[in-house]
Amino acid sequence: MIPFNKPYLTGKEVHYLYQAVYSGKISGNGIFTKKCQAFFEEKYGFRKTLLTTSCTDALEMAAILLRIEAGDEVIMPSYTFVSTSNAFVLRGAKIVFADSYSDNPNIDPASIAALVTPKTKAIVVVHYAGVACNMDAIMAIAKEHNLPVVEDAAQAIDSYYKGRPLGSIADLSAFSFHETKNIISGEGGMLAINNPAYVERAEIIWEKGTNRAAFFRGEVNKYGWVDVGSSFLPAETVAAFLFAQLENLEDIQRKRKALWQQYFNGLHRLAAKGYFQLPSVPDYATNNAHMFYLVCNNLKERTKLIKELKSKDIHAVFHYLSLHKSDYYTDKHDGRTLPHCDRFADNLVRLPLFYELTEEEIDQIIAAIEAVYS
Ligand SMILES: *Cc1c(COP(=O)(O)O)cnc(C)c1O
Repeated sequence: MIPFNKPYLTGKEVHYLYQAVYSGKISGNGIFTKKCQAFFEEKYGFRKTLLTTSCTDALEMAAILLRIEAGDEVIMPSYTFVSTSNAFVLRGAKIVFADSYSDNPNIDPASIAALVTPKTKAIVVVHYAGVACNMDAIMAIAKEHNLPVVEDAAQAIDSYYKGRPLGSIADLSAFSFHETKNIISGEGGMLAINNPAYVERAEIIWEKGTNRAAFFRGEVNKYGWVDVGSSFLPAETVAAFLFAQLENLEDIQRKRKALWQQYFNGLHRLAAKGYFQLPSVPDYATNNAHMFYLVCNNLKERTKLIKELKSKDIHAVFHYLSLHKSDYYTDKHDGRTLPHCDRFADNLVRLPLFYELTEEEIDQIIAAIEAVYS
């Protein structure tokens, strides 16, 4: 069986885990956490980063930082993972779902502008498959209405918008190191804080509402409860694992991009015949090879493709179901239809993509897809 995903170990994970375990400090915010945060701040220019136990936690921190309260409206795409939405729903927000572009699952800025009301408190965008949203258009709408923007950059490590790293453009950004992402630590995530107004409070929220981090830097002479917060920081063991991955980021990205390109070249001919669409990467965006997907012409053809690949021991999977139609949100949604989002929910299929996938296996997958359409 060719699995959909296989977590890749670069080699030094256990070595650093061992170091963390025997260092005598295995709770959070230790040496490995600081090494990882420094790596991100130096390489991508994020003003301040805080490792979290998941991207979900980073999004929850963002919602607290933005002081989202009951009745506030938050605009975001419907074609996304539940955590994007849940983090704001937990604070009582009403989610106002926007549609995707027709040729790309990312949020369409034109659909955002029409949804802003006096109750809107934030815009959240998702860089689907690590491909940048149209950030200039989004930031212009946010500026016009004086709204903060959050990038859900869970899939977007090492990807760029007009040369700027994703996660460095909005006020706040959330990354994931879940084992299905490019860079992993099992469960894990990070909040990047680019707007200086949020830096100090972010650290407090991160450490249970206390000014503990400032105390250990010697900036205050006692520490205590100063705000709301929770325990968002991961253990040093998680950070140690992550650091081994970061040391191999270039190699991981190079390999994933080569595999992605092999799929793209191999499937181009069938796409040109109209059997399905290949991912489209706008001129302003890069591809970080987080995912390789096809958009089938309809649900029936997608179901058939997944089934026939499965019969050949290839595990391909569909992705998000429209959140505005979910069991939890359908009666809270305002009734607008989001046709592009629904089309990706019905027709998009993801193919296996992981570091240890071989060129031969990709050839085998391409041949299996050709057989379905012959
Ligand atoms: C993976 C993912 C998340 C959740 O990440 P966790 O680290 O598992 O919490 C959130 N949003 C998007 C777009 C994702 O792809």
